[in-house]
Amino acid sequence: MRLRNKPWAVKLVNDHPESVLQNPDPDKKIDWAERFGNDHPIEIEVGSGKGHFITTLAEMHPDKNYVALELQTTAAGIILRTKLEKGLDNLQILRGDAADINSFFGKNTTDVIYLNFSDPWPKTRHEKRRLTYKSFLSKYEEVLKPEGHIEFKTDNSGLFAYSVQSMNNYGMFFDFVSVDLHHEKPEIVEKNIETEYEHKFAAKGNPIYALHAHFET
Ligand code: SAM
Repeated sequence: MRLRNKPWAVKLVNDHPESVLQNPDPDKKIDWAERFGNDHPIEIEVGSGKGHFITTLAEMHPDKNYVALELQTTAAGIILRTKLEKGLDNLQILRGDAADINSFFGKNTTDVIYLNFSDPWPKTRHEKRRLTYKSFLSKYEEVLKPEGHIEFKTDNSGLFAYSVQSMNNYGMFFDFVSVDLHHEKPEIVEKNIETEYEHKFAAKGNPIYALHAHFET
């Protein structure tokens, strides 16, 4: 999904280097403890879009650190605006490509990676771009702590089926799988934080697919 370019968002991002890292040098490790001012556990959302999910999480858990990893500057600017309005010191925005996630984060540094409504890339020739393709899984494995895990949600049945297969072939373990997240038991539904895409597709009556999975420990 490509957002229309918003000049205010670009300016906001450029004015706040303390909150947004833009295309950092992949050869230099980022000192996240220095950026956050503490060494609290880190959770990453890959492809945060306008950021409703990650800003809500950050507001709910001030004792954890969150990173919104997003390709688009306009999306980064929209997330930043919410961060500044809500005073979310535990949220950093990283404008970059998920393909470089293992250069942005050290080995065994991250507790959770969230993949929410990732672009489906339905054509077979684009398989390698899917964020659950094996090359991405191996980067997530590197970055996650041994006890860490991935949480994935989508409305796209094709991407969901592909991701289950890809993770299974990789040797991952599934801790939770749902083909209709919004109609699970109340305690599961109540804990769910909707993303913008999720809100839109669920309102149309589409089922939401979800899974939690971890690598061999
Ligand atoms: N997660 C949001 C939601 O559920 O509402 C946005 C979903 S939108 C379909 C996908 C988002 O992922 C877009 O904002 C896009 O810019 C971002 N994205 C796609 N590929 C990416 C990549 N390789 N690295 C970082 N972000 C990416």
